[in-house]
Amino acid sequence: MNSSKPKIVVLGAGYAGMMTTRKLTQLLRPEEAEIVLVNKHNYHYETTWLHEVAAGTINHNQARVMLSDVFSPNRVRLIYDSVVEVKKEENLVVLENSDIEYDYLVVALGFETNTFGIKGMKENAFFIQDIDTCQLIRDHIEYQFARYKNSEDKDDDSLTILVGGAGFTGIELVGELVEKVPQLCKKYDIDRNKARIVNVEAAPTILPGFDEDLVDYAKRSLEARGVEFRLDAKIQECTEDAFVIGEDREEIKAGTIVWTGGVTGNSVLGKSGFELTRGKVTVNGDLRAPGEENIFILGDCAWVMNEKEGRPFPPTAQAAIQHAGTCAGNIKALLRHEPLTNFVFDDKGTVASLGVTDGMGTVFGKKLYGKPAAAMKKVVDNRSLFLLGGVKLLLKKGKVRPF
Ligand code: FAD
Ligand code: NAD
Repeated sequence: MNSSKPKIVVLGAGYAGMMTTRKLTQLLRPEEAEIVLVNKHNYHYETTWLHEVAAGTINHNQARVMLSDVFSPNRVRLIYDSVVEVKKEENLVVLENSDIEYDYLVVALGFETNTFGIKGMKENAFFIQDIDTCQLIRDHIEYQFARYKNSEDKDDDSLTILVGGAGFTGIELVGELVEKVPQLCKKYDIDRNKARIVNVEAAPTILPGFDEDLVDYAKRSLEARGVEFRLDAKIQECTEDAFVIGEDREEIKAGTIVWTGGVTGNSVLGKSGFELTRGKVTVNGDLRAPGEENIFILGDCAWVMNEKEGRPFPPTAQAAIQHAGTCAGNIKALLRHEPLTNFVFDDKGTVASLGVTDGMGTVFGKKLYGKPAAAMKKVVDNRSLFLLGGVKLLLKKGKVRPF
């Protein structure tokens, strides 16, 4: 590639990074800029499907897309390496195995699980972070069932799966677990009543802040299928085999403990000297970092204020994809010396799965429950694949589960 062209470096191949890269290839002529995408793996993964990988209700390969299947090497230079730090003053990104200079930088490195410093959480709980951590969860759960079956001195607690936090990640995870656990019980000939799924939440309700009717529906549906909720139960500590909850430090024992209690921006932001609000960069309206002419911060790394409601927009794939559109347009504007535009969020709603055939949510302001919601969730999942790789990718990886 011609090195005299301005170089755009995109960090992270999640929703924000992939869609920015794709849009840039559509908006810019090849001679206008060199486009480089840096990611720690040679694949993109559908973060919004990770709860299914963790429960083992889909194969991890379905949630992965090879970057070389989406981008032509003639158009996008792919670098598979981990970002260590951005040196803003030098227009340089330090990678684990090399360095790379940029003229324009897009930081789209996603989220990291936040344990809020809860004692023992980092050491003892599993996290829904990426494909690798989710495969560990899946394998660990199956190991607990296999070990139980084959041990003479059976410990029923080893079959319990504890999920800490009943936000959308925790709720979607227990929704998948109620599908998987009966299958494991059948496979290992274990009484279904011995395998508990317990979801612990500090707030008095699951999905705090979400629509009350939908929350009520989700809770009843999951309880009917065997999920136990412990509400108003703040986790104080995580030990090797238990959550310690509440002021009286009650212990709930388990063989598998998963923490889904919150997320924050990638720690590379802090290491690179960006000013942070709760682990994220408060971006300008045009999605640039404050004081930086050539650095955009997107997706779960960005703190984007919802001025109407006086709080930040929640970190979602929907927002990350929309950030990408604004960012790519603004990079084109910078290259062509045109005015930049501000990001405007177009909220299409929120849909959550509660297992394979159940779900709930709002779409364009309309409430959906049950099978229609589950079907809508698959439409949303498939749309993301379509946006990334068109019909070819949709046919290869799309979700067409029968009801
Ligand atoms: P990510 O998708 O996290 O991608 C970041 C990328 O950067 C990854 O590919 C990662 O490998 C790479 N990376 C990270 N660190 C480095 C490094 N140091 N060097 C190089 N590469 C690195 N949102 C919705 O709108 N709808 C949903 O239904 C929904 N469901 C969800 C279900 C689950 C289980 C979870 C966990 C989240 C869900 N979300 C959903 C939230 C959504 O997934 C995130 O908001 C979204 O993934 C953010 O996109 P992103 O591009 O910022 O980051
Ligand atoms: P979250 O912050 O939304 O939820 C975390 C939950 O953990 C909260 O309910 C919180 O009260 C609870 N919690 C925190 N500390 C606790 C403690 N000590 N003890 C007990 N409970 C505790 O995090 P999330 O669920 O991972 O979601 C992250 C983002 O991803 C959100 O913006 C969410 O909207 C988005 N997401 C969306 C979907 C969807 O749209 N289907 C699915 C998953 C995630």
